[in-house]
Amino acid sequence: MGTERLYYTDCYLADFDAEVVRTEKDGAVVYLDRTAFYPASGGQPQDLGLCGGMPVSGVIDQDEEIAHVLGAPISAGRVQCSIDWPRRYDHMQQHTGQHLLSAAFVAQCGFRTVSFHLGPDLSTIDLETAELSDSQVEQVENRAAQLVRDARPVRVGFEEAPLANALRKPSSRTGVLRIIEIEGLDRSACGGTHVRSTAELGPILIRRREKLRGNVRVEFVCGDRALARARKDFHLLGETARLCTAAIDDLPRHVDSLRERLAEAEKQRQKLAADLAEAEGRRLWESTKPGLDGIRRRVLDVDSIRESTRALAQSFISAGQAALLVRGRDPFTLLFAASSDSNLHAGNLLRNSLQKYGGRGGGSATIAQGTLPNTAYARDVSCDLGFEE
Ligand SMILES: [Zn+2]
Repeated sequence: MGTERLYYTDCYLADFDAEVVRTEKDGAVVYLDRTAFYPASGGQPQDLGLCGGMPVSGVIDQDEEIAHVLGAPISAGRVQCSIDWPRRYDHMQQHTGQHLLSAAFVAQCGFRTVSFHLGPDLSTIDLETAELSDSQVEQVENRAAQLVRDARPVRVGFEEAPLANALRKPSSRTGVLRIIEIEGLDRSACGGTHVRSTAELGPILIRRREKLRGNVRVEFVCGDRALARARKDFHLLGETARLCTAAIDDLPRHVDSLRERLAEAEKQRQKLAADLAEAEGRRLWESTKPGLDGIRRRVLDVDSIRESTRALAQSFISAGQAALLVRGRDPFTLLFAASSDSNLHAGNLLRNSLQKYGGRGGGSATIAQGTLPNTAYARDVSCDLGFEE
């Protein structure tokens, strides 16, 4: 014998009693003669609540029967059950909102809904269209608001499949269909839970939309969720406005000007860093005594080799008769630069030396870069390149 689904005829039943028909897993999985617990199905998540005093963690639809997975075992007999009502009512609002929105999208734009998902914060419907414009969204939102104001009854009925006509989406099921009807708007075959009037939906807000596999996915919120979300949006905007010392309505203009100023400052910073590196390279060159061959050689240890390090090296060798070895600690990297009048080929010299110790690198005649597997040979490479330590 199957489980009687009380939510089929009464979605507002939150407390009920039932007989334990049988149990599995030593009483942790329970089958009742009847239940108001909704199992996860058709895009709507399962209910939570209590069964015989134990928390219900899973509600599984097994065709004829519904299995209740409990946090702790119970014994057979008559049990009191209660559904987590705020959670269920939220689901009823989102699910009925989906029926209404799907119908409105067909009526206003001719777009069919191909799938629905009810998430913990947001719900989505996928519309069979490649494009959805701002004005279409606004049109549907306005129509949805009107349908809520109409306070249209939402009714549950049962009809034989062949006789159930004018459904928004044809059903492939046979036998008796459960039909959810929003008066004068929509008829859908659906096993989910719904509110009894569109007035209970409250605000219906469409949010983000994205193109997905040739369809458009639309996020929406209804009822108390929409209120909470709008409140949160206002809080976030207010907080951002406070940080910017700007009015909320001025935020886009304000952020745009901030972005421009930031880009300008970044450009300035890069120019100053280049100027500084050049001056530093020049100062280093001046403070380095030429060797017997007339070449100024200098070793520089830095934390890491950056773009500014390369600029410094370029500046150092551009003064002529010069060679610079920069050793970066983290990660361990070497940069070798030699002026074109030094008769040194930076790329070849560095590559040959690094190869001897299992490292690798190379570059042009004047500037080259490379790495060593460990720092043990750093000194040997320095000596190879003509830098005495
Ligand atoms: Zn439904």
